[in-house]
Amino acid sequence: MPTLWIRDDDCLWSALPLSDRPIEIDHPFPIERSAEELVDTQIDGVVLFPVDNSSPVTTWALLWGPDRDVRINGLSSFTVGIRVMDDRDEIRIGTGGEVYFTTETLPVVETFEGSTHDIFCPRCRKQIEPGQSVVRCPGPACGLMYHYNADKALNCYEYADNCVCGHPSTLDAGYRWVPDEVSG
Ligand SMILES: [Zn+2]
Ligand SMILES: [Zn+2]
Repeated sequence: MPTLWIRDDDCLWSALPLSDRPIEIDHPFPIERSAEELVDTQIDGVVLFPVDNSSPVTTWALLWGPDRDVRINGLSSFTVGIRVMDDRDEIRIGTGGEVYFTTETLPVVETFEGSTHDIFCPRCRKQIEPGQSVVRCPGPACGLMYHYNADKALNCYEYADNCVCGHPSTLDAGYRWVPDEVSG
């Protein structure tokens, strides 16, 4: 899932990994909402929401009401209050400071729950079975799934330095992009 960069209490950048739920961002700290809440309560805030059903979700959009002063990358001349987000888009709301949306995702170990079609590990070429530990490559538009094992010798994800897409395949690689402290 993508990441939202916000400033914490000490004005330092902190990364907020997005889930697959809409998130209202015109608060000091963003608030996750369900899709039903957005419809039922007519939230008139500024909301980031996922617009596709793929997994992991890669396309997000920003939605805001007609009276809201929202600037993306310095531009506020959007006649319609909706915009599909790009990697590293800067968002400013009113007189608030900037936040950044990035498509960058950190890899996480998860348990494979099965799929309607067979999935094969790109490293060992063996089928991935339900219940096995896996890591999805967080590279842009990749999402390939690898076996994960804490034992390095059996760890398909970290067996090589990179995924076949070229994205680094180490669990503790950290974010490759962090907002610049001088901006703001
Ligand atoms: Zn494997
Ligand atoms: Zn990849």
